Amino acid sequence: MELHSKKHFFEDLQDKAQKEISFGVYVHVPFCASTCDFCSFYQETPHRQDLLKYLQTIRTEFAPFSSDRPVETVFWGGGTPGLLPPSDIEFLGNAQLETLGVPLREWTVEMAPSTVKPDKLKVLKDLGVDRISLGVQSFQEEMLEALGRRQSPRQVLEAYDLIRSAGFQNVNIDLIFAVPNQTMEIWLRDLEKTRELAPDHVSTYCLTLEEDTALYLKLAKARHKMDPGREADFYERTWEVLHNMGLQQYEISNFSRPGMACLHNLNTWRMHEWIGFGPSASSQYMGRRFTNTANLDEWAQGLLEKKPVFTEDSELSSRGLALDTLIFGLRMNEGVDLFEIRERFPEFESFTVDPFLEGLVDEGLAESSGGRFSLTLKGRLLADRIGAELLGCNDI
Ligand code: SF4
Repeated sequence: MELHSKKHFFEDLQDKAQKEISFGVYVHVPFCASTCDFCSFYQETPHRQDLLKYLQTIRTEFAPFSSDRPVETVFWGGGTPGLLPPSDIEFLGNAQLETLGVPLREWTVEMAPSTVKPDKLKVLKDLGVDRISLGVQSFQEEMLEALGRRQSPRQVLEAYDLIRSAGFQNVNIDLIFAVPNQTMEIWLRDLEKTRELAPDHVSTYCLTLEEDTALYLKLAKARHKMDPGREADFYERTWEVLHNMGLQQYEISNFSRPGMACLHNLNTWRMHEWIGFGPSASSQYMGRRFTNTANLDEWAQGLLEKKPVFTEDSELSSRGLALDTLIFGLRMNEGVDLFEIRERFPEFESFTVDPFLEGLVDEGLAESSGGRFSLTLKGRLLADRIGAELLGCNDI
C-alpha cells in the first residue's frame, strides 16, 4: 500500500469531532520477547532505547485527543503489553489517563502467561484495568511447541491463578484450534482444562496461516494442506462444549458468561468509532479509516514532525460502512436489524442485499424475524464466504 503522511491530520479530525459521541481506544504495544511461529502482528524485540522511544512518542500521539469526549472502552494489545516492566506500565497507563480520561465501561490488557507477575498485576489494578485477556493458545506442551509459543503449561496455570488472586473478575483466555496434528481428542483436553478454570470469556481462533509466518514456511515445506471439513468439525464441537459450560456464543469466535462480552470488540464489530495508538494500530474515526505505519522508527519520527505516517488512509462511504456493519453484524449471534441500518445509513441502497439475505434464509443459512437477520449454525460455519459474497453486492 502507498505510504504517505498528512499534515495536521489529527487537528482536522478533531475539529470535525462531535463531542457527544463516545469512542473506544486501542493501544498497540509492539514488543515481544520472541516471535510465535503463527504470528503476523507487528512486533519488535524489546531493546530499552526502543521502549523509551515508544513511551515518549505515544504521549505525543495521545495529546491531540485530549478532550472532554468520553472514552468508553480501552484495549491494550500487541505485541505483549504485559512484557513492559511495572514502571513502564504505570507510565503508559498514566499518560493515557491524563489525556483521555478514565474509560467509562471497560479496560482490557492482553498478557502472555510468561509475563504475568504480581507487581505488574498490582500496577494494572491500581490504574483501573478491569479485564485481563490471557494468551493461553493451548494447555498442552506438544501444541505449544507446534505453535512455536515459548511458554509452558505450568506457566499458563500459574498466570491464571495470579490474575484471579490479584482480584480480576473479568478474565478472557485465548485458545487456538485446528493446529496441524491436533486431533479432536487433544482439542477437547484444552476445552476440559478451560472448564476447570472457569474463565468469564473465551476466544477460540481457528489457526490461519499468514504467508509471512514461520509456521506457514514450515508447513509449506511439509506440503501441509488445510482441510475445511476438519475445521468445521472443530467449530461445531467447540460451540457445543462451550455452550454446555454456560459460555454463551455471541460472535463466531467469542463466548462469555452472561453480561461479560467484550465491550471493546462489540463497539468495533458494530462499526462505531475507535482510535488506535502505536505502530500498526488502525482507527475508524469521523468518517475515516487510517492505519499507522508498522515501523516503530517511522511512526515515532512522523509524530515528532507532526506528520503521522499511515499505510492506509481512506474516507469511508456510507454504503461501505453499512455493508461492513452487515458483514460484521452477521458474525454476531444477535445478527443485524435492517431497519436500524437503513436509519443509520439513509443512503444505503439495501435493495441489492435484501434478495441476498432472503436467499440465505431459503438455504437455511439465516433466520429472519421482523427485519432482523441472524445466521443459523450452518450459516455461521460459512460466515467468511457469506461476508465475501456480501462485499460483492457492493459492486452491483
Ligand atoms: S506473543 Fe502475540 S504478538 Fe507476540 S509473537 Fe506471540 S502471538 Fe505474536
